[in-house]
Amino acid sequence: MADYNQTAEQAAPAGNARRDYDLRPWLAKLQENGRLAVAKPGQALRFGIAGLANRLDGDRALLAPAPHGAPEAAVISGLLSRREWMAEALGIAPDALLREFQAAAAKPLPWRVVEHAPCQEVIHEGTAANLETLLPIPTHNEHDSGAYITAGLLICRDPKTGIQNVSIHRLQVSGPHELGALLLPRHTFSYFAEAEQSGEDLEVAIVVGASPACLLASQAIVPIDVDELEIAGALGKAPLEVVRCHGKSIFVPAQSEIVIEGRLLANTKRPEGPFGEFPQYYGPRADRHVIAVDCITTRVKPLFHTIVGGGLEHLILGGIPREATILNTIQSMFPHVRNVHLAPGGTCRYHLYIQMKPRQPGEVKNVILAAFAAHYDIKHVIVVDEDVDIYNAEMVEWAVATRFQADKDLVLIAGAQGSKLDPSTDEGFGAKLGFDATVPVDAPPMKFKRIAVPGQAEIQLDAVLEDVTLSSWLAE
Ligand code: MN
Repeated sequence: MADYNQTAEQAAPAGNARRDYDLRPWLAKLQENGRLAVAKPGQALRFGIAGLANRLDGDRALLAPAPHGAPEAAVISGLLSRREWMAEALGIAPDALLREFQAAAAKPLPWRVVEHAPCQEVIHEGTAANLETLLPIPTHNEHDSGAYITAGLLICRDPKTGIQNVSIHRLQVSGPHELGALLLPRHTFSYFAEAEQSGEDLEVAIVVGASPACLLASQAIVPIDVDELEIAGALGKAPLEVVRCHGKSIFVPAQSEIVIEGRLLANTKRPEGPFGEFPQYYGPRADRHVIAVDCITTRVKPLFHTIVGGGLEHLILGGIPREATILNTIQSMFPHVRNVHLAPGGTCRYHLYIQMKPRQPGEVKNVILAAFAAHYDIKHVIVVDEDVDIYNAEMVEWAVATRFQADKDLVLIAGAQGSKLDPSTDEGFGAKLGFDATVPVDAPPMKFKRIAVPGQAEIQLDAVLEDVTLSSWLAE
């Protein structure tokens, strides 16, 4: 094990990295207002941490310092399990989140290379780069095949153009120096396919403990030649500071907690899975890609971020960038559509709520068809008026209950392409359903007017309420 002499202060002399490129200030902020639960040392990595994280899901983030077998590290989870938290971490108003994300994806900001970085304070090479002894990697669900890295940004470079790609993959710990990877046929896969064709491995870096901006940017649905780290820069409104990997020609966010350097092995596949996935079902075991680990660099006392499959943090991280893309697509045809939301109850993939003011009879059905075309994962669409809060599933249900008639307002499409991870489909082949829960364009004004008490929202409860019992008042 080689120790690295640079301290964080020396590494970033300019001190001008935006606070949202570093995870630690966000954790401190969560703690300031009682949103961070801290576990006693020695929590079990097998099921213990995932169980705790699930119990706290959406309520408080979890910090588990010195978990069992890892006295010099901590596990963190649930840091971004509410969309308001994500917005706050990025310094964006919650209702501007999609707009700002759309803007960042449209106009990325190049990163800035620094020489020394916190993520390389400690360096472990060769046999010392042991995943099982260095990192506190939890096992989450009952039938998972073992420990998994779930919040690792996998960064690789296009062998032809050198452009970097960032994506999150589930990574099974297959041995002290080996990870099993699920690569869906997207950007990482196609870079790897290029390398493999010439018989070469593909260099990769896996970044754990990345900032909220980097995590969210990694999920952007953008063309293959867009570097997601530049979207993180645009989101943070300042160039992201990156450092060259210790032994690889890949640049990683300088403020990260842990960087695992390795290679996706050409012409190699080994068993991976089962693993508990976002729809709350297990993804099956199969022969999948293999990463050989060559080096692990960390901060002193690194924080290992884990995202529990199907938890709110998992859903929201995937949901927000999808919403931005889907809203873009729908607005290109229907610019007056105001907002969309992928509801957590529909795993932030399958249920889309659309908010709009319809202008023509029948128009909502066209919007429903546009939504199905925007992403094949979308299975059920509910369109509501602008007086319905689409972040409140009960309000959307109220609109369906009172503004929807099944014989007129339903769109049913049989035999379309859907999500393979939805077990009710036939390997992704399934039905789509759309609900027009908007008020008819020609309805009389009072018929669908929602009742309201004037001034209700403005009442300051603390200023009005007091701690007096009925009996003491009666006795006065
Ligand atoms: Mn990409």
